Order: sequence, then C-alpha cells, then structure tokens
Amino acid sequence: MFFSPHPVKKDAIIKEFYSLGTIVQFKAYGNKASQAIDKAIDKIKDIDNKMSVFKDYSELSKININAGKAPTKVGEDTYFVIKKAVEYSALSGGAFDPTIRPVVGLWGIQTDHARIPNNDEIDEAINLVNYKDIILDEKVSSIMLKSKKQELDVGAIAKGFAADEVKNIFKKNKIESAIIDLGGNIFAMGNKIDGTPWKIGIQDPIRSLGEFVGIVSVKNKSVVTSGNYERYFIRDGKRFHHIIDPLTGNPSEKGILSTTIVSDHSIDGDALSTCAFVMGLERGMELIESLKGVDAIFITENKMIYTTSGIKENFELLNNNFYYKN
Ligand code: AMP
Ligand code: MG
Repeated sequence: MFFSPHPVKKDAIIKEFYSLGTIVQFKAYGNKASQAIDKAIDKIKDIDNKMSVFKDYSELSKININAGKAPTKVGEDTYFVIKKAVEYSALSGGAFDPTIRPVVGLWGIQTDHARIPNNDEIDEAINLVNYKDIILDEKVSSIMLKSKKQELDVGAIAKGFAADEVKNIFKKNKIESAIIDLGGNIFAMGNKIDGTPWKIGIQDPIRSLGEFVGIVSVKNKSVVTSGNYERYFIRDGKRFHHIIDPLTGNPSEKGILSTTIVSDHSIDGDALSTCAFVMGLERGMELIESLKGVDAIFITENKMIYTTSGIKENFELLNNNFYYKN
C-alpha cells in the first residue's frame, strides 16, 4: 500500500470579498490553498488600485488626467492589459474600444446618477472614442491618449486579466483544482477534486441570478459571460445596459442577451465576450469560429441559443424556455 507523506487536503478553502466592482469568490483545494488565496486577494486589490477609473490615484486615472498632455509611465500589468485591449479593438473592428469611457460615464450605469443622455451629449462623447488614439511606448512603458477629454476604461478586460493572474498564483502554490469567480468571469482550474470536469452554469439572462439555461463542462478553462442583465437601469419599461456600441453611443442592440466565451486565457475570454456581444450573432460567431481554441455560446432575444462547433459536446441545455439545436 502507498501512503503519501503529504496527502492533499480534501476540503475546499473558500473566500469571498468585494473588488473590481464585483463579488469575487475563490474556492481552492490543496495544502497551500489558504496562503495562495491570501496572495491572490492581494493581487486582485493591487490590480483594482492600478486600473480602476473610480480611484483618482490609479495608473488608469493618471493616463486619463494626462490625456492630450503627456505620456504616463505605467507598470507591466497596466501596460499589458491596455496593449491587449488595443489588439481586441482592432480585431473586432472597433466594436470593442477601451476609449469608451466618456460615453459610459455619460450613461452612469450602476451609479446613483444613471440617466438617458441626449443626442448632442452622445455625439460629443462618441467623438472622443477611438482606440487608435492610444499611444503605446513599449520601451519606456508609457501610455498616452492623443486628445484632451479622452478616457480609458478597462472594465471589459481587467477581470479576465485578474483571473489569469490568480490562476498563476494558484499554480505556483501547487493548487490543481480551483474555481476563480470574479462576478461571473470564471476560471475553472484543473478538474473537480473527484477527477471529473467542472460544470459551469450559464446564467439564464431572463430569470434571477443563479438560475441557469445550461451547463458547460470544462477542464482548465476560462468561462466568461457578458450579459445585458449584469448592469443596467430601466426607464419607461426599457432596459439600458452597460455594454455600449461605440458606433451609436447607446447600449448595444444586436438582439443579444448574453455571450459566453470558453478559452484557455481569461483575458481573451473577457475581451471576446464583449466583442461578440457588440458585434452581434453573425459577425461575432464568424470572429470566434476564426480563432483557434476559443468557443462561444450566444443567447438571443428571441430565446435561441447558438454555440460554436468546438463546444457542442460540452454544452447541455437545462431550461426549455430557450431553444437550442445541437
Ligand atoms: P463586460 O461585462 O466584460 O462585457 O464589460 C462591460 C464593461 O466594459 C462596461 O461596464 C464598461 O465599463 C466597458 N464597456 C462598455 N462598452 C464597451 C465596449 N464597446 N468596449 C470596451 N469596453 C466597454
Ligand atoms: Mg468583457
């Protein structure tokens, strides 16, 4: 008989806290799970301090304050996230655009001053949106926005980056099984402790939080969803959500309720879920199918579910309110 001198602890360590504008929950198995989670919490807070638009001392705010004036030196993490954001802006033909902040600020979604802006305000703000105005200087690790009043927002990609960073910390601490959940931006590390794949619920975009349309079975994958139910306000019976179409300056209206991306790296999944949402079913599907190792689940307003070819076997419908033809 074989006795391991250091058997892996069978109980999960779970910790929950608020950061990056959302509820973050870590669940990890392993002898060093508790220390690893504490290190991961520090990392998340550090990312929030560097990249939040709501903290005037963040690196991101410094770039925004210096817009049209001077380059801002930033650390490796912020530089990497903004560089990736620019790459996804180009890949999506501008459907994704981290200079969207002036428009997002106008709508004030999830603040106490949410409102419908008038057309003049929207036009003025849209004129400031252009990812091509982000001047990156890799040699000195500096970033500058070309014109005054331009502003960055990495809300559509930072959680993905953060999930990847947590996964790396967990890996260094020999954790082989974990769920990293940043408000629906999930990384399922390894398999479940019993060796079977993780089953990740895909939120029903119409019903309340925690009710699922289906589940996706994954091993060591990021599962990220962008949904119109995540942040929004309702006026005169109409929902105004947080994912803005840079062409119109309005919440994207392409008939999509949610897009989920399954990928190896969460930074890619986060950026692409927002890209796909704004691009809509046809163009979004085409983009995701063209990328190796990336899959998607689209849920539309007419209650249809569409998946890319690579994920059909791993997706199971749970809810008959939606129609899914496998
Ligand atoms: P996500 O939930 O990842 O799709 O990201 C949505 C968040 O990203 C919003 O709350 C905004 O802060 C920001 N955002 C909104 N529209 C866009 C867009 N078209 N491109 C990039 N970021 C956006
Ligand atoms: Mg995103």
